[in-house]
Amino acid sequence: MKLKDYAKPPSHHKSKPVLFLLITAGFLCLAAICFFVFNRWEIELTIHGEDDVSIEYMQNYEDPGASAIYRSTMLPFIREEVDVKVASNTVNPEKTGHYLITYQAEHNNVTASRSRNVSVVDTTPPTITLTENPDSYTPFNHEYQEEGFAANDIHDGDLSEAVEREVRDDEVIYTVKDSSGNKAVKKRKIRYDDRKGPELSFPDGTDLVLYKGTPFTDSFTAVDDCDGDVTSKVTVEGSVNTDVCDTYTLTYTVSDSHNNTTVATRNITIRTKPINNPATSDGPKTIYLTFDDGPGESTGRLLDILDRYNVKATFFTTSMYGYTDYIIQEAQRGHTVCVHTYSHNYASIYQNTDAYWSDYQAQKDVIEQLTGTSNNLFRFPGGSSNTVSANYSTGIMSKLVDQAYEKGLVYFDWNVSSGDAGSITDTNVIIDNIRNGISRNAAAGVPSIVLQHDYKSFTVDAVEPVIIWALENGYTFKTLSDTSYYVHHGINN
Ligand SMILES: [Zn+2]
Repeated sequence: MKLKDYAKPPSHHKSKPVLFLLITAGFLCLAAICFFVFNRWEIELTIHGEDDVSIEYMQNYEDPGASAIYRSTMLPFIREEVDVKVASNTVNPEKTGHYLITYQAEHNNVTASRSRNVSVVDTTPPTITLTENPDSYTPFNHEYQEEGFAANDIHDGDLSEAVEREVRDDEVIYTVKDSSGNKAVKKRKIRYDDRKGPELSFPDGTDLVLYKGTPFTDSFTAVDDCDGDVTSKVTVEGSVNTDVCDTYTLTYTVSDSHNNTTVATRNITIRTKPINNPATSDGPKTIYLTFDDGPGESTGRLLDILDRYNVKATFFTTSMYGYTDYIIQEAQRGHTVCVHTYSHNYASIYQNTDAYWSDYQAQKDVIEQLTGTSNNLFRFPGGSSNTVSANYSTGIMSKLVDQAYEKGLVYFDWNVSSGDAGSITDTNVIIDNIRNGISRNAAAGVPSIVLQHDYKSFTVDAVEPVIIWALENGYTFKTLSDTSYYVHHGINN
C-alpha cells in the first residue's frame, strides 16, 4: 500500500516544476526571438575635440583623433572597442583653405563614418618696420623726407611696395593690407628741428687779391635752411684799406631764428702791381704768337712755317703728347720756351699749391734738361682767370698768383683767342678770329698776345695766312719776356 501510494503521486504535485520549466523555456525562447528580431549592432563613432576647427596659417595642426565602439542596441553592456581609420586629406598649414578629415570604423560588416572641418586661416596682419635714424630731423617749414619703411607679411611676404603713406601735420601714417584683408597701421612722429646755421657764401670768391687802389665792395649772402635769406642779419668785423698793401681778415657772423650761428672768415690781400706794363715800348702793331699744350705732332710743321718768315714765337710747353724733343728745336730755332704744365691734369695740379708747383717744376726740369736753360715765364693751365680750379681748391688761383710773384715768376694770359680750344675746327674761322682780335687790339692801342695750341693741325694751318696778312699790314712779331707787354685776366678763384 505504501508502495502503491508511492507509485501513485498526486497529479497536481507532479505537474508544477514541469510547467515552470516550460514557461521559463518559453520566455527564454521569446527573449531570444525578440533579441534576434529587434536587436541591432551598431558602431558609435566619437570625434575628439571640436567638429569645426580653425587654425592659424603656419601653425602646426595635430588631430585629436576619434574613437569607436561596437555595441548592441538592446544590450548595451555588450560592447567592444574597434579601430578608427582616418581616410582623408591631411591638413597643410602652409596653405590657407578648408580641409575635411573623415574617420571610418568597421566591424562585422557594420560601418560608421564622421568628419571634421579644419580651416587654415590667416588672421595675422603684416608687420610695418620703420627705419629710424635718431640723428635725423626735418627742418622747420620743410617737407618730411622719408627715412624708409618696410612691410612684411607672414603669408604674402614683402609688402613694402603696397604701403600707403599719408603725411598729416606732424605725423606720417603708414597703412598696408595683406591678401586676407588683415590691416596694419603704423605712425611716425615727425621730428621738426633746426640744428644748422645759415650758409654764408661769397660770390666773388672767399679769399681775394686786389691791386692797390682798386675799390673793394664786400659781397656776401647768407641763406638758412629754415629762415631763407638772412643776409641782412650778417655782421662783419674788420675792414679793408685798399691803399695799404696787407692781408685783411674779415669775420662774418650770422644766426638764424633758432640760435644756430655761422662764422666765416675771408682774407683780402691788397698788393701792388708787380711790374709796370711796358706796353709803351711795344707798340700796338706788335704780335706775340703763343702756343700752348705742345709739343705735338704738328709742331715740326709749325717750326718750318715760322722759319720761312723768320717769325719767332713763344711756346708754353707740356709733356703730354710725347713730342718733347721738339722743345730742343724750338729753343735752337730762336723761339722762347716756357712752362705751361707737365701733366695738364686740372684735378691733380689744382688740388693744392704744392701740387701745382711740383707739376710746374717737373716741366721746368724737362726744359732745362733738353735745352740747358730755362726762364721765369709761364702760363697757368686754363689761364689765370680759370674757374675750373675752384672744383678742386677754393681760392687757389689767388694764392698761386701771389706765390708766383714771390718766386719772381711772370705769368701771361692772352688778349687774342683763336678759338681753337673749343669746338671750332675750321681753319678759316681760326684765321678770322686771330685777324679780328689783332685788329681790335691795334685799334685800342695795345699789342696782341695770340693764343693757339700747336698740337692741333687745323690751327697750325692758320699760322701762315696770319703771318702773311700781318706782315702785309705792318705788324712785327716778337717773343714774350719778363719785360714785355703782358695781359692778366681777372682772378676768379
Ligand atoms: Zn693748356
